[in-house]
Amino acid sequence: MKIPFNKPYFTGKETEYIRAAVRTQKISGNGFFTKKCQQFLENRYGIKKALLTTSCTDALEMAAILINIQEGDEVIMPSYTFVSTANAFVLRGAKIIFCDSRPDHPGIDETKIEGLITSKTKAIVPVHYAGVACDMSLIMMLARKYELFVIEDAAQAIESYYTFHNGTRKALGSIGHLATFSFHETKNIISGEGGLLAINDEQFIKRAEIIWEKGTNRCAFFRGEIDEYNWIDVGSSYLPSEITAAFLWAQIEKINDIQNKRKDIWHYYEHSLKDTSKGFQTPVIPPFAQNNYHMFYLIFNSHELRQKTILRLKEKGILAIFHYIPLHSSPFFENRYEGQPLFHCDRYSKNILRLPFFNSLKKQDQQKVINALLGDN
Ligand SMILES: *Cc1c(COP(=O)(O)O)cnc(C)c1O
Repeated sequence: MKIPFNKPYFTGKETEYIRAAVRTQKISGNGFFTKKCQQFLENRYGIKKALLTTSCTDALEMAAILINIQEGDEVIMPSYTFVSTANAFVLRGAKIIFCDSRPDHPGIDETKIEGLITSKTKAIVPVHYAGVACDMSLIMMLARKYELFVIEDAAQAIESYYTFHNGTRKALGSIGHLATFSFHETKNIISGEGGLLAINDEQFIKRAEIIWEKGTNRCAFFRGEIDEYNWIDVGSSYLPSEITAAFLWAQIEKINDIQNKRKDIWHYYEHSLKDTSKGFQTPVIPPFAQNNYHMFYLIFNSHELRQKTILRLKEKGILAIFHYIPLHSSPFFENRYEGQPLFHCDRYSKNILRLPFFNSLKKQDQQKVINALLGDN
């Protein structure tokens, strides 16, 4: 029996709601299920305006348009992230300034951001890696000081919270001017492909709806606010169909169950694998961050040991994978990179191993993974 790395989870209501969407005879976007999902997410996470998108990548592209990125504007983000974080801004002509990761956690090293800010800097894009918050008090303070926008890449961070230095707690994705989530099948809550743009700065709400609807004011038209709709701005087709939204609603409805399952799996790994002196460490969750159990990873003491472990697990039919070739050393960017070496980013890239983690992972299979790592069989 093989143990995969990920397995999409179905709550059982997905096809029922898709059938309901089909029965309404309106399956294009921005219908009943889209509104239901958006309202739920706004209320639960304290987001001013939520717009479903066809992916987190699309939501990031919308964010880049909304903050008016121009040729040569600089955007600061970690190098240790998924390609879409950077691509969305590259598409609009931005110059990406890559920052190192924290010594204790793969998230952006907040203390290194200020040194990268220039007169051309337009935005900071923190990525909440593994759903674990970046230190948003520091990042928002820098944004105020230098008048920058903050776009949280919260692709992995649904149901995750951050506690500010003054004690207030907020959901990730409700803090930056804009934030983006993913419902790709590898995330906690899924719709196959799917995403969300979260708008927390009200100045962006009106224009976001237009960009979302191919650069037209069709949303206002459907609300009966205008007599005809027109091409009034740039935009694209960023909204998902009602079929996607219906699927997503079946997942959102069961968000507490899903999170409870993931919590048990995460803690069982942590409990079994911490302090084992086997040459790896379990994840550090900084005190200001709350875990959303998006993934479980180990940080090995050496690249060699990580590679050996991948092979050893593979021989036992267990698929564990590494994460992120740093973007600053990717084939696309390598020759453009002008910054300092990014020591911690490179270290995570070489030494992190992500373990099988999905809602239906059985205890006995999880135990097999743990035994393989501890070398007990
Ligand atoms: C998954 C992911 C994305 C992309 O999400 P899609 O919905 O597949 O576009 C972007 N950034 C990060 C950090 C991710 O983990």
